[in-house]
Amino acid sequence: MPVFDLPPGLIVRCVILCVFLGAAAGSFLHCAAYRIARREPFAKGRSRCPECGHTLGVIDLIPLVSWLMLRGRCRRCGAKIPARYFLAELFFGALTAAALLRFGPTVLCLRNWLFLGCLFLLSMVDAEICEIPDGALLAAVLIWLAALPLLWGGAADALLHVAAGVAYGGGILLVSLITDRLLKKESLGGGDVKLLAVIGLYLGFMPALFALIFACILGLLQAFATKKTGGKQFPFGPALSAAAALMLFFGQPLADWYLGLFL
Ligand SMILES: [Zn+2]
Repeated sequence: MPVFDLPPGLIVRCVILCVFLGAAAGSFLHCAAYRIARREPFAKGRSRCPECGHTLGVIDLIPLVSWLMLRGRCRRCGAKIPARYFLAELFFGALTAAALLRFGPTVLCLRNWLFLGCLFLLSMVDAEICEIPDGALLAAVLIWLAALPLLWGGAADALLHVAAGVAYGGGILLVSLITDRLLKKESLGGGDVKLLAVIGLYLGFMPALFALIFACILGLLQAFATKKTGGKQFPFGPALSAAAALMLFFGQPLADWYLGLFL
């Protein structure tokens, strides 16, 4: 990890910078998810207070700081701004710093960070309206393709990742079509199938398999916690995304360790 070769003072400054940059990105993603979930135009102009319509100025938009300074209230009308605004910024800020520490200041880091942004966005939308936006998946695929020449590990490696995407997407589609027939209801959404294909593309065969297993465990815990195991629709995107993010960070060491058990 090249980042740890830097002087400690510089690492701390880089991490703080990353937290703030990531928090700004998190704020943007949170706002975008809010608008997508309400079918509003993606770029509708400046953010406003949902209560009084006051256009937010620079002072209201400093990541993390504004929410804390205004104690979670609108500066004009005093309406409560939900904590999730702050939490989205904090979460993505922390994730950004973690990505820098894990991948170093590299193209891989930038690509994975953009992918994490897509996952965060689609998870927030899915959690709200049980629908994974195609735009976020398409963006993830385009980011993967754009970074491919810069992270070139040979044609065989690239093809393996594409094959993993096709295999997981196609495999799950087949399984879900069969279970739909047997249960006579929709088991997995089309968005989940496409998301799994994208996860296969990024992670490759082994880490994507781990991600799928982790996602199922998380999904079961989520179903248990929310008691939504009945006929109701159930967002699987957040669990899939969380598992994929975990594997993005730790998938390769985990796969190496697992394969090492048999050698
Ligand atoms: Zn207001």
